[in-house]
Amino acid sequence: MSPGRALLQVPGPTNVPERVLQALARPIIDHRSPAFAEVALEVLGGLKDVFRTSSAVALYSGSGTGAWEAALTNALSPGDTVLLCESGQFAVLWGELAERLGLRVQRLSGDWRLPPDPDAAAGALEADVAHAIAAVLVVHNETSTGLTADIPAFRDALERARHPALLLVDAVSSLGSMEYRHDEWGVDVTISASQKGLMLPPGLALNAVSERARTAGGKSRFPRGFWAWDPNIAANRTGYFPTTPATGLLFGLREALALMREEGATAVFERHRRHGAATRQAVEAWGLEVYCRDPAAASPVVTAAMVPAGADVDALRAAAVERFDLSLGAGLGPIAERVFRIGHLGDFNDLMLCATLCGVELALEAAGIPYERGGVASALDLLGRPSTERKMPGAAGM
Ligand code: PLP
Repeated sequence: MSPGRALLQVPGPTNVPERVLQALARPIIDHRSPAFAEVALEVLGGLKDVFRTSSAVALYSGSGTGAWEAALTNALSPGDTVLLCESGQFAVLWGELAERLGLRVQRLSGDWRLPPDPDAAAGALEADVAHAIAAVLVVHNETSTGLTADIPAFRDALERARHPALLLVDAVSSLGSMEYRHDEWGVDVTISASQKGLMLPPGLALNAVSERARTAGGKSRFPRGFWAWDPNIAANRTGYFPTTPATGLLFGLREALALMREEGATAVFERHRRHGAATRQAVEAWGLEVYCRDPAAASPVVTAAMVPAGADVDALRAAAVERFDLSLGAGLGPIAERVFRIGHLGDFNDLMLCATLCGVELALEAAGIPYERGGVASALDLLGRPSTERKMPGAAGM
């Protein structure tokens, strides 16, 4: 038993706001009742605003991986080739899932410390004169590395190559925390989940689906059961679902959407941007390296930091949780031994960030990691300055 609040600063699942927790605690209602349909219609409409789409959003009980599978099996057919921008560990996992499903994966590998390269994608698409590539797969915010991808530049790469492939984007850790525009950016399927920027517990998997993707889906030869788009989207028109939905989470989602509208999209995005900048400033002042080498691509929702070679990054995370009740993200995949991650997304404010950074500085000391003092002070300098964006409650977009 640890007194006081634990700090959950993994980059998802994130902290759930009190108002959402209270909504989650409501008595369960009949998911075939008109009262439920009203809630479902409200949240499905609200999600369209968050994705910035006028197309359908398919909503399932599931995690981000389920949403990947839904996107691949509805939009594509077994044996199709996908061009995967392998920008980090989540992109790797997405590619492995695609292979297990029987898709061919053409990998565009690059330096994980730099954003995925749209020109390299354009080159691969131009070389594909037979148009064998059926879809381009890009992760918008690579949660393992703390880098973002320029999604409009990938749409532009497809246009430049005059290639008909679909554009599938993983927005699992960006949706609700960073600007995202499904329609305007020409995305065909956007994949997301509840446990990050949407400030809910894990449990909802989401696909925003363009008309083009639905048409392609009509020709798909994948056997589809639970993840089929059409029965969900058809039932959703009247506020119902073909299977039992996660009713409690939908009450929570209604409240989370209300909170986002009250704060306003502009203020939400600016808050994340500032927290990302302050965190990177702290990391650099500690004499550690920010994993991302391109400041313009640095993630506003998660910072991956590198400890010096030979330092024990697991000891740092263990000290943080055991001594200070602060959960930090582990390094993932090939960078596991050098990287830890600080999540700064979701229901989060300046003083929560201060506490998080204090916890990291104390844990660096406790774990005997070589570092310089002053990271917290450096972040305070930035946080003390007034935000450049005014709060705009009710701003369009959420
Ligand atoms: N994609 C990204 C960018 C993620 O960060 C994650 C999980 O953290 C996933 C996909 C997989 O989602 P899940 O663990 O909910 O299945």
